[in-house]
Amino acid sequence: MADRGILIVLSGPSGVGKGTVRKAIFEDESNDFAYSISMTTRAKREGEVEGKDYFFRSKEEFEALIESGGLLEYAEYVGNYYGTPLQYVEDTLASGRDVFLEIEVQGALQVREKMPEGIYIFLSPPDLMELKSRIIGRGTDDMAVIEKRMEMAIAEIEMMSLYDYAVKNDKVEKAVSKIKGIIKSEHLKVSRV
Ligand code: 5GP
Repeated sequence: MADRGILIVLSGPSGVGKGTVRKAIFEDESNDFAYSISMTTRAKREGEVEGKDYFFRSKEEFEALIESGGLLEYAEYVGNYYGTPLQYVEDTLASGRDVFLEIEVQGALQVREKMPEGIYIFLSPPDLMELKSRIIGRGTDDMAVIEKRMEMAIAEIEMMSLYDYAVKNDKVEKAVSKIKGIIKSEHLKVSRV
């Protein structure tokens, strides 16, 4: 175990700012973990670079990779596929380097099944905890709106309990420093040394 890298999975609800936090983490060059570049079928956005931001592939190519077992996980998100190439993760962990994934919730739960020894970090929206009591307390919203918001909040809170750590993304720098702290202390765990 000691020689193997640690898998770090950053995930959380959509719109919480995972991409921003991940980019801020990788801006610090003292990090020695590797970022696993995902594969996607979505169109390249302006400024994105093949092999840096994503591996951009056709639906057919992506589905062929699913069939051949080449993905550690994958999910469909807003009409496109996103997935983690398995080989890179396996090889990098085996070489002793940590691997960092930034993926949405469905994918993170698939990885957790396959690699339970990883670190699973849930990035939560700033007001998730207060949201529930606020929605109930306020009591002025349309009933359907209250119910929808409650459903979403509860689903998100339930997801959080499947992770090892919860980091509130109120300020990017604070979230980044907490995540770095989590990774450092995981390396010191007796079970990993
Ligand atoms: P975007 O299209 O904005 O780059 O990403 C959309 C969502 O897909 C984000 O929540 C991002 O975290 C997630 N995502 C990116 N790569 C992967 C991946 O390899 N697997 C999964 N399951 N989600 C991913």
